[in-house]
Parts: sequence; C-alpha cells; structure tokens
Amino acid sequence: MTDNKVALITGASRGIGRACAIELAKAGYNIAVSYAGNDEAANKTVADLQDLGVKAKAYKFDVADKDACAKAVEDVITEFGGLDVLVNNAGITRDGLFLRMNAENWEAVINTNLSSAFYMSNPAIKTMVKQRSGCIINMSSIVGVMGNAGQANYAAAKAGLIGFTKTLAKELGSRNIRVNAIAPGFIQTDMTKDLDPTKMAEHIPLKRLGMPEDIAKAVKFLAVDGEYVTGQVLGVDGGLVI
Ligand code: NAP
Repeated sequence: MTDNKVALITGASRGIGRACAIELAKAGYNIAVSYAGNDEAANKTVADLQDLGVKAKAYKFDVADKDACAKAVEDVITEFGGLDVLVNNAGITRDGLFLRMNAENWEAVINTNLSSAFYMSNPAIKTMVKQRSGCIINMSSIVGVMGNAGQANYAAAKAGLIGFTKTLAKELGSRNIRVNAIAPGFIQTDMTKDLDPTKMAEHIPLKRLGMPEDIAKAVKFLAVDGEYVTGQVLGVDGGLVI
C-alpha cells in the first residue's frame, strides 16, 4: 500500500498506452501495465516508470478473455491497494472491405476493442463504487465517429465504446465515478506504421500526425484535472473531425 493513486492501463507496453502510463506516472500515479505478449516492450515500460519513482508492474493477459480480465483487475487491486483510474486502451485492427470481411476478423476486433471494456470495467467499478470515486477512460477513435471504409469491425467497436461511455457516465455519476472517451485521430504508433505521414498530414488542419504524448496529455487531463467532466468524447485529432 502506498499513498499514490493507482492507474491500470490496458495495452501499455507500446504506443498510446505506454505514453499514458508515463504521463500518469509523472503525475504521481502507480501504474499497472497490461499487455498481450511483447515482454520486452512491457519490461522496458515498467523499468521507465520505476525510474520516475513510482511503483509499476506488468500484467500479461488477453483483454478479450473475460476471466483473465477479472483476475487481472483483482490482482492489481490486491497488489496496489486500490484502483483509481482504468484506461481501456488495448486495441487491434483487422482491416478489410466489408464484402470480404470474415466473422473471425469481426469477432477478434469486437472482442479485443469493445467487449474488453466491459470485461475490465465490470470488476473495476465494483471497487470504485466501494471507494466512492473512480475514473474510466475508453480509447475510442475518430473512426467510431465518422466510419471508415475498410474498418467496419473497428468502427463498430469504437462507436460502441462511445455509447458504453455515455451510458456508464449516466449510471455512475452519482457514485462519483467519471467515464469519458478519447477519439484520437491518426497517431504515430506501430498501428499506423504503414500510413504515409506526409500524405495523411495534408488532410489534417494542424498539418501533422499526432504523437502518443498528445493523447497521453488528454488522458492526464481527464484523470487529474477534469473533475467536472463525464460522458464526453474528447477528440484529439489535429482538427480532422470538425
Ligand atoms: P499499438 O501501438 O499497436 O499498441 C497496442 C497495445 O495493445 C500494445 O500494448 C499491445 O500489447 C496491446 N494489446 C493488443 N492486443 C491485446 C490483447 N488482446 N490483450 C492485451 N493487450 C493487447 O496501438 P496504439 O496505436 O497505441 O493504439 C492504442 C489504442 O488507441 C487502440 O485502442 C487503438 O484502436 C486506439 N487508437 C489508435 C489510433 C492510432 O492512430 N494509433 C487512432 C485512434 C485510436 P503487446 O505490446 O504485448 O502486443
């Protein structure tokens, strides 16, 4: 047990999740780092967080596995002594035009990007209700707002997260639990490594792709300073959706 607040971030070994972990650690949070299989990246993130003077531990499990999520949340609460912030960030893409999209790719994306938020939030909220405080941040996408050819599965999952966010915010506000979503635009991570940044930037009012740190700052705002903010979808996209 420490006096630091505790954040559990799914998919925190790399990319946006890793940047969120570092930003919240700088704000004094102890961090539980979830990841799927990249031990090297997870260990590096944990070491970098510990260098910032906070407690950090990695948890390897599949966010699409309900029982694994329940166990991980329980383990984190036991190890860290509570849970103040849950960031449902882990996600994958399995792109393809709908006419050629098979059920396997549909289910993989829905389970990993949407059902995971239910699997993680369900046990987390039980502790937050007892604490009478908590904050959940769901990593949606501009694609969940606008749709995107070739991403019916991903857009459905990300749009689902927005409905999930607004509903939980209404149900849990009286318990002092805030629930928000972030809709990132194109952010430079492994997920977008095949996109041409110069070509993409032409369509973005701020004329650049986002960096993981741009999203991490929004997560920190919602977790730390946004005490009167709930049920919102915060676009962090360089003005792409206006
Ligand atoms: P990324 O660089 O590909 O990193 C994905 C992270 O999720 C990794 O930590 C990975 O763990 C973890 N992960 C993947 N599948 C998992 C599973 N089944 N169980 C547990 N962890 C799993 O992705 P990113 O670009 O940072 O994206 C993070 C989130 O932001 C995603 O939800 C994504 O949809 C969303 N987003 C991204 C963009 C963008 O432009 N990049 C835009 C909008 C929204 P391992 O390292 O172990 O594989």
